[in-house]
Amino acid sequence: MASKELANWLKEHKELIMVKWIRAVRKASPGTDALLSTRELGARHLEDLYNAFVSALETGDYSNLEAILEQLVRDRLKREYNLREVLVIALELKKTCWEGLVKEFPSIQALEYLQTADELFNFMTIKMANTFTEESFAFIKKLNKSLEQKVKERTQKLQQAKEELERIDKAKSDFIRIAAHELRTPLTLIQGYVGMLAMEDLPAKERISPILQGLNKGIKRLESIIRDLIDVSYIDTEVLTLSLQPVSLPQIFQSLLVEFQPALQSRRLNLSISGLESLPLVEGDPQRLKQVFYNLLSNAIKYTPDGGSITVTGELLRGEQDFVHIIVKDTGIGIPQDKLERIFDKFYRVEDFRLHSTSKTEFKGAGPGLGLTIAKGIVEAHGGKIWAESPGYDEERCPGSSFHVLLPVKAQPRKTEYIQQFKLPVKAVIFDLDGVIVDTGPYHFQAWQRALAEFGLEMSEEQFLSTFGMRNQEILRTLFGTKLSSEQIEEIGRRKEAIYREIVYKHLTPMPGLLRLIQELKARRFRIAVATSAPKANASLILKTLKLEHELAALVTEEDVEEGKPDPEIFLKAAEKCLASPENCIVIEDSPAGIKAAKAAGMKAIALTTTRPAEELSEADLVVENLAMLTPEILESLLEVGKQ
Ligand code: ADP
Repeated sequence: MASKELANWLKEHKELIMVKWIRAVRKASPGTDALLSTRELGARHLEDLYNAFVSALETGDYSNLEAILEQLVRDRLKREYNLREVLVIALELKKTCWEGLVKEFPSIQALEYLQTADELFNFMTIKMANTFTEESFAFIKKLNKSLEQKVKERTQKLQQAKEELERIDKAKSDFIRIAAHELRTPLTLIQGYVGMLAMEDLPAKERISPILQGLNKGIKRLESIIRDLIDVSYIDTEVLTLSLQPVSLPQIFQSLLVEFQPALQSRRLNLSISGLESLPLVEGDPQRLKQVFYNLLSNAIKYTPDGGSITVTGELLRGEQDFVHIIVKDTGIGIPQDKLERIFDKFYRVEDFRLHSTSKTEFKGAGPGLGLTIAKGIVEAHGGKIWAESPGYDEERCPGSSFHVLLPVKAQPRKTEYIQQFKLPVKAVIFDLDGVIVDTGPYHFQAWQRALAEFGLEMSEEQFLSTFGMRNQEILRTLFGTKLSSEQIEEIGRRKEAIYREIVYKHLTPMPGLLRLIQELKARRFRIAVATSAPKANASLILKTLKLEHELAALVTEEDVEEGKPDPEIFLKAAEKCLASPENCIVIEDSPAGIKAAKAAGMKAIALTTTRPAEELSEADLVVENLAMLTPEILESLLEVGKQ
């Protein structure tokens, strides 16, 4: 009863008590509250609290009061109030009520009233203190987590910077080591001959002539190394100047053929040059361009065993801007896939330089590792692009390497980014692997089941289908979430792939119509690429088994991208490797994520209903049941759709 009376009294005196209470709260927490007028946030909250307090007193139901208290504490925490500044709200309310009550009632009665509300005041204080502790704990946990993340990111960046510094440092010491070695060899030669000269009393002409020849050889070698070093320093400091004029590429190769003839003969290498006659003159520096192809041919000779062959071919790529594309291909020892870019770095060699003799034409007669750096510098100074392709390094099987040079017919000096802006007239078809080249779905499922069983886990067919097209890590994370550590995720993924390769190797057949389609597309000058979320080892095994590895202009796998499908990265990378702009690319896919990725890349998409029904693939530009339904004409007309 007393509590109802008190509630009524509090309602009647609301104005007065509120004003005093707010003033007291502000005084006790002089921070942000001091800036708020009574009408603003802090006060409005306090008014809500006051009303909830009164109604809790009246009804005995604390739930609304509880919610308001929680909110209030959270707000104050956000504004960095401390616990005292929070609790002051309840304490000051009690104090203000008491002051009001004693003014109006005799002390005994006032005390009685206050005692009826005591439980409620205690509840408020405890609730506020609890919420404060819980929330601050959660806040600290969150803060900790984000700090941890930040520390992780910074450590990673530091690690990267450290690696980069180490790389630069290694390059520097390599320079000193290699330059010393390279310069010492001819010097030793010169010293030897000078010594011989010194031993002669009165040298006869016929005895002096071979000595002079030897001296000459040593001096020439020194000269060439020093010239290379100077060229590299020009390229490094971007002061390589070009004397531009019309250049005939067939002429350059003709004179190189003559120059290399003795080496080709002694090494029994066959050099064939074709397709250059029909190329237009390109604008460039003839001496410098000759140097590029000299270096490429000299490498092809050096890294191809006796009896091998070297072919040079060329094509004209017509477009908004015309380019010539020259390919120097050999049947040599090849280059490791992960070194295809590094070989253009200064002083970089795949093998240890001490193992080999210094020569321009002997088998594996390494030089100072500057040839490709210089070639790249010169090509890029013309506004062109140079890159290497090779299935890998193998001295036994000799998979060979090809070096591609793309030169603008009209030179664009020093605009390296320029080539990306131009739309080359190259068309490409990018195939997904699983479900398009081969139907490996069932083998994947079997491999998952066997691998997961080893770790005491299971996967249903439904789960398998729902994660189709994702990368292994994503599949495991989606299905087993935080149950697995990242080490376990990696281990299970690896195990699954090993089992999968075992199964696949025994069962592989291409999808119906695939081989015919690829041959027809190639005849119509489409470039063929494969872009797959599978690991490189699997993709290479499949392509090799189907004898498709040499048909491809590009293979992009899980390891080459940061983001998996539906991110467009994988298809954009494949297009770039084919030199095709996205609008000239068609993706053939069987998963909705793949189709999404193709569309996001700005490419045309054809869906195959190998694993999913047509309804789920409706984002594609064309949906077909199998590859036998496709022809180059259909693909060509698909590319035209939507172009002006
Ligand atoms: P080097 O003076 O050692 O030939 P380059 O810069 O010309 O230096 O080449 C760098 C490295 O690239 C070589 O040491 C070799 O390992 C590799 N390389 C270049 N061309 C070929 C090729 N045609 N076949 C195999 N490896 C090659």
